Amino acid sequence: MALTDQQYHDIMRQYEQIRYQNAKESERRREEVYRKIPGYEELDRSIGGAALKTLHNLLEGDTAAIDSMHDEVREKLQRKKALLTEAGFPADYLEPIYQCAACKDTGYLNDTVYPRQKCSCMRQKEIALLYAQSQIQELIAKENFSTLSYAYYKGEDLDRFRGAVKISEDFVQNFEHDYHNLFFYGTVGTGKSFLSGCIANELLQQGHFVLYFSSIRLFEQLANYTFANNERQPLSDLQNDIHNCDLLIIDDLGTEMTNSFTSTQLFNCLNERHLRHKATIISTNLSLEELQDRYSDRVFSRITGNYILCKLSGQDIRMCKKLSN
Ligand SMILES: [Zn+2]
Repeated sequence: MALTDQQYHDIMRQYEQIRYQNAKESERRREEVYRKIPGYEELDRSIGGAALKTLHNLLEGDTAAIDSMHDEVREKLQRKKALLTEAGFPADYLEPIYQCAACKDTGYLNDTVYPRQKCSCMRQKEIALLYAQSQIQELIAKENFSTLSYAYYKGEDLDRFRGAVKISEDFVQNFEHDYHNLFFYGTVGTGKSFLSGCIANELLQQGHFVLYFSSIRLFEQLANYTFANNERQPLSDLQNDIHNCDLLIIDDLGTEMTNSFTSTQLFNCLNERHLRHKATIISTNLSLEELQDRYSDRVFSRITGNYILCKLSGQDIRMCKKLSN
């Protein structure tokens, strides 16, 4: 889907803000170093002075001036680095600061072959706007591998959860070279969405194109575009992203109003992604029997045939957390 002009400007404003904040921080660090390390500021200025002097000598016809400047500047740069680390600062303390080093917070990669190629951080910002992916942001803010706890499980439930965590970690680890799909199923509040969120978080950080939809929202969007006659282009863009994103997460399958439209759409989606070897994660409170009853046999066999089935069980953790608060 394409951004509106306004959305595009909003994203560019975000990058401006980031660059502005980082420039301010750089300036603050520079002043701090000037204050704390005697002689550092003079050294900094003398490097600029050396460049000016060389330019002057070059204009006067002294072609060896460049070489002697190189030596002089190199020596001063080494001196600066030594002063910085001796005073206890990290060696890169005065290097430019970027939130995304790949595009230097411009949104575009500086590629000579493909100029104006969008950076993955820009793609994520677009996706956030286009598909209202705020849900995934909320999910991963509180649910990621660092907040993982086994405290709510015991016995067989604990074994299952440990197994599912291991499968999730392997999924992230091998994501680049192996094609796998995951199907988390089991009763309410046993950690299914949590694990999807953990995986999404890791892969987003690696710069992958991850789309997250609650089942209700996925079919709602597909229906909106399918039945709005004048929106053909956005539908094909939406389908394109759903079929081609690196990872698609469908959360809470079965909570939507199931009918022949959703069943067909679900099959198409799973099938297209399978053909492209693009990974999908589905979570659901349905049992396998309920899955078979509710969707077509084609959907059922796609899932049981091509997905790692991960059953989770136990008490409802969300309820436990609420009660203990
Ligand atoms: Zn970037």
